[in-house]
Amino acid sequence: MPMLPTNPNNRKDRDPLLVLLMGMGALPTLLILLLITFTIFMVVPFINKPEALPEDGTTTTMSMFRDYYEEAAAKYNIPWEILAAIHAKSPQYTSHASKVSGTVPNVKYKEYIESSLYRWNKDRKYQVTPALVAAVMEQESNFNPNVVSSAGAVGLMQLMPSNCQARKWTIQDCKIPVNNIDRGVELLVNHLNNFNGNIKYTLAAYNAGAGNVKRYDGVPPFQETQNYVKKVPQRMSKFAGETNLAPVKDYIFDLAQTLQEEADSQKGICKKDATQKLGEETVSTYGDNVICGIYKLDSKFTGDGGWDYVNEVASQANLFTGRVTIDGNVKYTGGTLAWPLAPNCPITGRWNERRPGHFHRGLDLACAENTLVRAAGDGVIYIDKDNPGGFGHYLGIKHSNGLISWYGHTIPYGSVRVGTKVTKGQYIGLIRKIGRSTGPHLHFEVHIGLNPSSDARDPLLFLQKK
Ligand SMILES: [Zn+2]
Repeated sequence: MPMLPTNPNNRKDRDPLLVLLMGMGALPTLLILLLITFTIFMVVPFINKPEALPEDGTTTTMSMFRDYYEEAAAKYNIPWEILAAIHAKSPQYTSHASKVSGTVPNVKYKEYIESSLYRWNKDRKYQVTPALVAAVMEQESNFNPNVVSSAGAVGLMQLMPSNCQARKWTIQDCKIPVNNIDRGVELLVNHLNNFNGNIKYTLAAYNAGAGNVKRYDGVPPFQETQNYVKKVPQRMSKFAGETNLAPVKDYIFDLAQTLQEEADSQKGICKKDATQKLGEETVSTYGDNVICGIYKLDSKFTGDGGWDYVNEVASQANLFTGRVTIDGNVKYTGGTLAWPLAPNCPITGRWNERRPGHFHRGLDLACAENTLVRAAGDGVIYIDKDNPGGFGHYLGIKHSNGLISWYGHTIPYGSVRVGTKVTKGQYIGLIRKIGRSTGPHLHFEVHIGLNPSSDARDPLLFLQKK
């Protein structure tokens, strides 16, 4: 692992606040100290609230099949992420995955790798595979235990001196294969679990440090790291063995060919159905022929099938490309949501404003009672509920891209109820002066996942310009 750059100017010579305090009398000093304490207790908890790290659901196993998805996608003109999503949900996937997660044949230091994995994988949710360790080792040192990099990384797994010191090892101790592998495996297992099984982030963290993955919200833009996250999975496939991977490759190419045939036969035929079931955004992302082709696919690929299945495949495919994050969390990629109220209704409350006892979790738009409220995007109504002490009544939509939107002080309009499919811009409600409000307004929230308290975000980041 290369050394992270450290900032030599980070040294504190003198605290200007202390100098200021020393020049003043005792009473103002005490007041200022009280103010500082108050600020720290009131503000810091909000600043330090950890942000959920984006995820794209790329598991170790998926990454090993990635080349096959891409080859088949290019040959049959089907998006690779659709192939990956169908495969991941297929009845065959578990057996394919187990074939490449077990032991690796004929790799150097096999026993050390397996005993360390036994130790560090124990009781962890996400398991590092022997092929991953072997691939990292080959990439890092080409199985030479004596390599020392220009940045000071040592041995088979190229550990930084700080990682050796953490075990109280000298550099010589650290080079010993059984030690070096054990510490390297520990780091890989920790990264994989800290990044919820995401192999790309795990490899990026191993190469450039977890701090950089968090800083860049993903794989850092360094050439070496970008290269690293591509190379290691290719090496992994090699270590898993041709014979293990052959049935997987056959399945993926068979799937791609069959889906292409179905998609060709479905061109234009079920566009209306597909749009009604999945929403315009999903259909236009993948094409109605592909979406309808998935619907028509043989159950040997799909298991249960049906429109719910097609919807799940499309959502999973969005995940793989990073358009959406794991658990349906949507990455901000520019505002796509429609303004939920007429554009002349002014903003009267903003995201994160201080309110008595809480911070304001949404955007307030004021207009007369019974002003029509629009769906901010395609989706399904999943909340239609009274909330006497708060919103009075509110509606919630699960959007097809994974976002959630809430409409407070709003009653349903027309036939809208839980389960109603809505399209972007469609009227869904009427604002009323109900619940805790000083005047008629819409309280609009956007969540990137299912937990409002941690997943709410500033709606203005997600709304299109008025
Ligand atoms: Zn509000």
